[in-house]
Amino acid sequence: MNTPQKEQWISDMREYCRSLNISTNDLYRIVTDLKIAPMIRGKAFEFSMYSRLRQILSVEEWTVTKPVMNAQTGVPDIDVMVKHNLTNKIISIECKLASKGGFGVAKKAQEGVAKKGDYFVKVKCMRSRTTKTDERVESAAKKFGVSKEAFRVHSDQYRASNFNVVATSIGNAFYETGEDEDGNQMYKFQPTEEGKQFIKRLKPPLDTEVALQEFVDDSDTETALQEFVYNKVYLASSLDIAVSKESSIVCGKRACLDKYNCGFIPNYPVINFGNIEELLPGVIPSPKNRWVEIEKAQLFLKELLARI
Ligand SMILES: [Zn+2]
Repeated sequence: MNTPQKEQWISDMREYCRSLNISTNDLYRIVTDLKIAPMIRGKAFEFSMYSRLRQILSVEEWTVTKPVMNAQTGVPDIDVMVKHNLTNKIISIECKLASKGGFGVAKKAQEGVAKKGDYFVKVKCMRSRTTKTDERVESAAKKFGVSKEAFRVHSDQYRASNFNVVATSIGNAFYETGEDEDGNQMYKFQPTEEGKQFIKRLKPPLDTEVALQEFVDDSDTETALQEFVYNKVYLASSLDIAVSKESSIVCGKRACLDKYNCGFIPNYPVINFGNIEELLPGVIPSPKNRWVEIEKAQLFLKELLARI
């Protein structure tokens, strides 16, 4: 931001706060509040995905937009929309952060998820508004094409038909809830030792890597690592993360009557990097299930066109 932009930004913020009676003195405490921060970070990720995809995808072939949601007209809420110019096919992208603290190494095998020793990142992928009243359950079930009972069992879950692609930044998997100097609870980038090793394998820029070996607690290094891993984004087709025989993903809801084929997306789909200790040195871990690095978005989306 240059100086006039900065001044404009400050005056916009002041005016906005004034119009809603928000004291600018409290703004910092408000945006770092544990209830508020996840919403802001989720929204911020949508915008960063929008500009990232505009950078990656060829403008001749694709049109990337960020639709403005209109609650009144009931237009479906699409985070980022990608249009294939030649066919006019629309691909909707749902942006989800990894689950807080969601990085781990599997301690035991779990059907359809991981083998023992696999490195994984859990993605938080659930509907924020759940549907409870009978009337709403009926209409939602109809819309999803499932029975009312099946809907009730999975009421906080998406179906593959709700969007085409989920995009996930894995950074949040290395966050924990901590305290700032004043004892306020807030989110902190705090990778475990295994987490740091994993991030290192993903190859941060050289200076970060060197710094990581030498000054693990240096705050500049932490910032560089934090930024690096936030930008590690993976894409998956919704068809490949929903419970089905083809995906071999199994439903974790106890009351589900169709555990191998119910069609719902689990609350925490998993990006599985396999056992990275078995990789040759220098080989960058890559998901071994159907997730794909954002750098490969163009090919990924092209292949997806045939399936939607
Ligand atoms: Zn199920």
